[in-house]
Amino acid sequence: MQRPDLIIRGQRVVLPETVAPRSVHIREERIVFVGDYDEVVADCEIVEAGDSVVMPGLVDTHVHINAPGRTEWEGFRSATLAAAAGGVTTLVDMPLNSIPPTTTLAGFKTKLDTARDECFVDVGFWGGVVPGNTAELAPMFAGGVVGFKCFLVPSGVDEFEHVTEQDLREAIPELTRLGALLIVHAELPGSITSGDGGVDYRSFLESRPRAAENEAIELMIRLSREFDTRVHIVHLSSADAIPVLREAQAAGVKITAETCPHYLHFAAEDVPAGATEFKCCPPIRERDNREELWKGLRDGTIGLIVSDHSPCPGEMKVRETGDFMKAWGGIASLQLRLPVVWTEARRRGFTLLDLTRWLCANPARQVGFETRKGSIAVGCDADLVIWNPAAQFPVTASSLYHRHKITPYAGEVLSGVVEQTFLRGRKIIDAPPGHMLLR
Ligand SMILES: [Zn+2]
Repeated sequence: MQRPDLIIRGQRVVLPETVAPRSVHIREERIVFVGDYDEVVADCEIVEAGDSVVMPGLVDTHVHINAPGRTEWEGFRSATLAAAAGGVTTLVDMPLNSIPPTTTLAGFKTKLDTARDECFVDVGFWGGVVPGNTAELAPMFAGGVVGFKCFLVPSGVDEFEHVTEQDLREAIPELTRLGALLIVHAELPGSITSGDGGVDYRSFLESRPRAAENEAIELMIRLSREFDTRVHIVHLSSADAIPVLREAQAAGVKITAETCPHYLHFAAEDVPAGATEFKCCPPIRERDNREELWKGLRDGTIGLIVSDHSPCPGEMKVRETGDFMKAWGGIASLQLRLPVVWTEARRRGFTLLDLTRWLCANPARQVGFETRKGSIAVGCDADLVIWNPAAQFPVTASSLYHRHKITPYAGEVLSGVVEQTFLRGRKIIDAPPGHMLLR
């Protein structure tokens, strides 16, 4: 046994197959041994977690940091600090809302220069597929992006254009050749209307019906099958699409899906008039839809839960008029994913193993980081979160490290308090120790 630099031990250590009393031995940033609780080494520093849960650091593969160019929306420092405070030790930044977007190799380099030395956690990057950038995909992938995102509807920013099926027919063969994952904002424009505007949430919800998602997902299943390319549906909201996804997966189509905490926690019926902090696209849907999403998680059709943290300056939420059609669509929740999901999951009988699969192991696997991230196992980076699943806390603006504090979770009382976060064996405290994770 190699002599460890640090041992973290507790009564409830979450391993890939079991939760048990264990000691986790760490040397030079990695886990070198997982022993019984009492297997410790004399004169080695020990962190005692007691009855708190010791879980792999969370992996969040859907985060909009918006820097450079729109750093006033978030930025790497505030985002990664919020991540660390929420038990997240790895996140993957989305290719849009920054200027330039990550749709060219030059744009990716600018992004890396912006992020370097600013990150409290480890950070990976998505590239983007936009009309006409097929020649940039191979250089970006060689440079280290984990895969590529596209939109099938306008993204909300002009510099990241959405693609048509025709554009995808050009890009996808290249993605197949590279073996790169395509992640898709799956709403098609055909069923989306401009809505009536105003403070009525129902009217906004009807402007982005389930059909827009369902049709987009059917298109992506078709393309994935035709080109034998790996496709992942981001932020699935319409539970109507679960049966077709399940069927496609069973037939061997390489298609996966994620959903987000807000779709699993809130319900359209409860969104107050003018409460634009609840606006996101696709929208939060009805209570019965929410319960179907939980069933999709239970049977594995939906494999992961990621934040889709998408903040903006408070004024862009136009809270003074409460007009849902004019407000920026996006929910800030990077720091709150663990307690939101745990609060809802425990009430439905799910376990810490389920939670770890959705929040840690499966997101790590999605982006190819599974040998280093998302599990407490020998050889993995010593990324760990210690948290108390029984403790509750109220969400207050002062407890959030996000740059902007506006969030629909404000005032909620959630279960699951993060106590300590370790990145590669170091407690995240004063210095930003994050690495750029290149594929
Ligand atoms: Zn997003």
